[in-house]
Amino acid sequence: MTARDDASAPSAAPPDGTGEPLVVLSDVQKYFGELHVLQDINLSVAHGEVVVVIGPSGSGKSTLCRAINRLEPIDSGVITLDGQPLPAEGKALARLRADVGMVFQAFNLFAHKTVLQNVMLGPMKAKNVKKSEAEADAMRLLERVGVANQAQKLPAQLSGGQQQRVAIARALAMKPKVMLFDEPTSALDPEMINEVLDVMTDLAKEGMTMVVVTHEMGFARKAAHRVVFMDDGRIVEEAEPEEFFSRPKSDRAKDFLSKIL
Ligand code: ADP
Ligand code: MG
Repeated sequence: MTARDDASAPSAAPPDGTGEPLVVLSDVQKYFGELHVLQDINLSVAHGEVVVVIGPSGSGKSTLCRAINRLEPIDSGVITLDGQPLPAEGKALARLRADVGMVFQAFNLFAHKTVLQNVMLGPMKAKNVKKSEAEADAMRLLERVGVANQAQKLPAQLSGGQQQRVAIARALAMKPKVMLFDEPTSALDPEMINEVLDVMTDLAKEGMTMVVVTHEMGFARKAAHRVVFMDDGRIVEEAEPEEFFSRPKSDRAKDFLSKIL
């Protein structure tokens, strides 16, 4: 029996080991003034791979996510998506943003648009998708994340968990190549966390390439192919979840796990 047959092994589809990785960060450095917030970051994410990023507050996890869709420029190094360096501006940058879906801690929905409009707008504006087609796509996605019956409501009329599922549907509407999640359940009441994690686990099983910053270790164990532990702007350790959680190597990872588990 291989590790993957084990009941505790990730249930997500294994990453496609063939071909080029989808996202590659090479020797990435990023400063905020004097603060060296990303230090010598080397990370590649395969097609279909689910990478969970964990680490203490301030370790650079959000900055890493934001660098991958170029919400933050980097100071040196290279980030590629599907073999292409991230464009700096213009139409090419808009296309990149469409390819990289992002879900934040705060749901960031348009408050004065309905749930349905929130999901339709991106494809219509950025991809010139026809209204009827955008609407049909949006309804399918709302169905998939379990909030189709809320389509005509405004975001504020939904629970936090429902709003976050709409945010996921909105990101998926752009048909991204990779989805970034930055602590998507941190702002939710405990009873709503699982409904969001379940949607993410389904996405992982369907083979979506995902980079997920989260403190939800149950999700990491269940859905991640790899856990990346960051501290002080560096990747200190990376391993398969079972390995990482049962045998962390660095003192910093041991210390972090002792505080959260
Ligand atoms: P994490 O998501 O792991 O908590 P962040 O990536 O948000 O960490 O932040 C890493 C470090 O960079 C922190 O020390 C934070 O205070 C700092 N930082 C983040 N964004 C900015 C910014 N726009 N300007 C200056 N410092 C920042
Ligand atoms: Mg953060």
